[in-house]
Amino acid sequence: MMMLKTKIFPIIILSLFIFTTTWAQHSISSIPDPKQQGQDHFVSNPDGILSSSEVSELNQIAKQIEATGKVEFAVVVINDFTYEDDDFNFAYTLFNTWGIGKKGANNGLLLLVAKDRRRYRFITGAGIEGLLPDVTLKQIGERSLVPAFKEGRYGAGIVVAAGVIEKVLTSPDGIAELNSLIPREKTFIEKNSNYFLIALSVILAYFGLFKLIKKWAPESQKNSKKNSKFEKNVFIGCGIIFFGIFFCVFAVTIFNTNLLEPEFLPWTIGAVASLILTIKINSGRTTIKEQSKDVASYLEAMKNYLAKTAILIPFAPLTLIGLLKQFLKNKELSKQLIAPEGFEDYRRIDRNSNPTGKPHLTAGQYKEEQLGVKTYQIWKGRQADDIEIVAWPGEKSKNYFECEKCGFVTLGKPEQKTIKAATYSSTGQAEKFQSCQFCKHKIALGLVVLSKLVRSTSSSSSSSSSSSSSSSSGSWGGGRSSGGGAGGSW
Ligand SMILES: [Zn+2]
Repeated sequence: MMMLKTKIFPIIILSLFIFTTTWAQHSISSIPDPKQQGQDHFVSNPDGILSSSEVSELNQIAKQIEATGKVEFAVVVINDFTYEDDDFNFAYTLFNTWGIGKKGANNGLLLLVAKDRRRYRFITGAGIEGLLPDVTLKQIGERSLVPAFKEGRYGAGIVVAAGVIEKVLTSPDGIAELNSLIPREKTFIEKNSNYFLIALSVILAYFGLFKLIKKWAPESQKNSKKNSKFEKNVFIGCGIIFFGIFFCVFAVTIFNTNLLEPEFLPWTIGAVASLILTIKINSGRTTIKEQSKDVASYLEAMKNYLAKTAILIPFAPLTLIGLLKQFLKNKELSKQLIAPEGFEDYRRIDRNSNPTGKPHLTAGQYKEEQLGVKTYQIWKGRQADDIEIVAWPGEKSKNYFECEKCGFVTLGKPEQKTIKAATYSSTGQAEKFQSCQFCKHKIALGLVVLSKLVRSTSSSSSSSSSSSSSSSSGSWGGGRSSGGGAGGSW
C-alpha cells in the first residue's frame, strides 16, 4: 500500500505539471472573452491567478472607468501565451480580435499580464493615445505593477494600476498628480553628459596637438602663396566632411550603428581629428621636400621632423605608414651623400646654393630633375674641370621614357586628345601620342575611335502591400489599436 503511494505520487505531480504547463500557454482563441459573461465583466482570469474578490474589484473599477472616463478597459491575466508571439504582438492581436473600445472612438485599453513570462503589456486604442500616452502607461506599470508583481501580488498590483488609470482619466489633476509621484526622466543632455564631456576633451586634446604640429612643421609656406594654401585647406576640409558623412552612412548600413549617437561621439570625433592630424603631419613632410633642393639639408630637416612627430603616432596611427615609407626613403637617399668610388677626395656641390646645377648640368638634365625622373649629384675635385656627375633615380622615374630625339628621359606617357567628340548618335575620334617635355618632340600613335555615348537607364521598382482584416465585434465596442501602449517586465 505504501509502496504504491510512493510510486504513484511523483507521477501524479509530473502529469499535473505537464497538464498545467500546456494549459498555461494560451492562444488568442483559448483566452475566454469576459463579455460572454455579461456587459459588466472586463477581466479574463482563466488560470485563476487573481482571486475572485480581486476580479470583482477590478470589474468595479473598469465599470467606473467606462462610465466616467469613457474608456473600455480589459484585463487579461494568464500564466503564459503561445511561444510564437512576443508580448506586444500577442496583446495587440488580442486587442483587435476582441475589438476593445467603441467603434469609431477607438477608446479601448488592454492590460495583458503573462505571469510565467514575467511580462506585462498595455495596448491603447487609437482614440486614447493622447489621454493615456505610452510614457504615462509605462510609468504606471513601473510604479504600480512591477513592485507588486515582484512580490507575487498580481491582483493587488493590477488593482492599484487600475485605480491610477481611473484617477488619470477622471480627474484633471490626475496626470499632474501622477507625474509628481514619479521621478523626472533625465533629459537627453543629462543622460549623455559624460559622452559629451569626453568628446569635448578629445577635441581639446587634438586642438593642442594641431598647435604642436603647426609649431614643428616648416614655416616658409605660411608666408608664400597664402591663397593657394587657403584653397588647399578648404579642399582638405571638404574631403574630411565628405569622408565623415561617408563613414557614418557606412556604419549605419553595415553595422547598424549611428556614429552620431552620444556614446559613439567621442570615437567619431577622435577618428576625424586623428585623420586631420595625419594630414597635417604628412603635409609638413611635403613642405620640407619643397623647401630643400639639396639632399643633405632635406635629410637633416626630415630626420628632425620624424623624431618629433614620432610621439604623435598614438594619436594618428595612420601616419605610421607614411613615416615608415619616409624612413626607408631616407635610408635610400643617404646613399647619395657618399662620394662615388674612385672620387673619394671630391666634394659634393650643395644644390641649395646652386639649384640649376649650372654649368655642370645640361638643360636637359635639369629638366629631368624638375620632372622628378632623376636627381644628379655633382662631385667636384681640386681642379676646376674635375667634375663627376652621378645620376640617381627620382620618384617619377617610371612616368617618363627616353626621348629618341634629345636622349633625355623626358618623354611622357601616351596621352589622348579628342579631335571629334562622341555623341549619342555617332562615334568620335581621338589622336594618341607621346610628347617630350624637353625638346617637344611628338610621337604619333594613331587614331582612336571613341565609342558612342550611352544614356544611363534607371529602373525603379515599387512594391505596395495592403492588408485588411475585419474583426467580428463581440460585446466589446469594435475599437482598434494602432499599436500604442507600453510594456515591461519584472
Ligand atoms: Zn626630347
